[in-house]
Amino acid sequence: MEQQHFDGQIWRPPFEANSVLLQATVGCSHNDCKFCSLYHGTRFRVSPVAEIEHDLKIAAKYQPHARRVFLTGANPFVLSYNKLVNIALAIHDYLPEVKNIGGFSRITDIAAKSPAEWKDLHRLGYDRIAIGIESGDNATLEFMRKGYIAADIVEQCLKLQEAGIEYNFTYLNGLAGVGNGQRNALASAEVFSRLRPFAISIVSLTVFPESDLYTEVATGTFIESSERERLEELKTLIFNLMPDTPVTILANTISNPVPLVGYLPNERAKLVAEIQNILDTVSEDELTRYRSSIRSL
Ligand code: SF4
Repeated sequence: MEQQHFDGQIWRPPFEANSVLLQATVGCSHNDCKFCSLYHGTRFRVSPVAEIEHDLKIAAKYQPHARRVFLTGANPFVLSYNKLVNIALAIHDYLPEVKNIGGFSRITDIAAKSPAEWKDLHRLGYDRIAIGIESGDNATLEFMRKGYIAADIVEQCLKLQEAGIEYNFTYLNGLAGVGNGQRNALASAEVFSRLRPFAISIVSLTVFPESDLYTEVATGTFIESSERERLEELKTLIFNLMPDTPVTILANTISNPVPLVGYLPNERAKLVAEIQNILDTVSEDELTRYRSSIRSL
């Protein structure tokens, strides 16, 4: 049976489960964040046009009525404006019912294109982009080698907003290390409140041996925050998030010992109460045992 190309590990947000996956890039062009093990061992590359067309032919055979395509790879939006235009045109040729196209993006990928180019890309269907922001705290972003600062997040996401492109964030709870959770939550809430993510996925930091951070934990240059500190951090983030459009909080991945989902601002009190209930009823030992049992995200 003819198959689409997929190399290395393939990640997509849970809410892209019904989208056609199309490999536009492989791995991550940055590949430097200390905590990351997602694309370990996979060299970054761009899919050749012939490969993309081959994959679209297969997708058209099995999902001819597809409405959305998700470009795989850690940051397909690193591709040039011209390449993204050509990919969108090819998608619409092979899958004429597709309404929009998403993918993961780094802040630096957004910066590399002009506001006019983003408006064009939106007209071609690019929308609902997933951005692994991780934090809005400059000290944390710098320590983790994310490659941008909080001001860049605001500037680049406003550019997407002006182009009419929706986006969602990932926040890495616990990323600032022991004793810094409150600072991270407050700084991130301040940044996120100036923007309009339609959802924020909360992932709790889980350090895997393939990451550089694993060595730092072993040598003591990074000390992980306790599970209780992370819950306090999440509570502070949710309490202080004041975006001017509603946002869904999705703290329900395997990295979250107790799954939480809610809608801000309407369910702020409910979410805060649920976190407080975990703090009141579940011990640090139980939460730590849970984290130690996680083998993969
Ligand atoms: S966190 Fe994202 S940008 Fe950073 S190395 Fe991993 S995949 Fe690349």
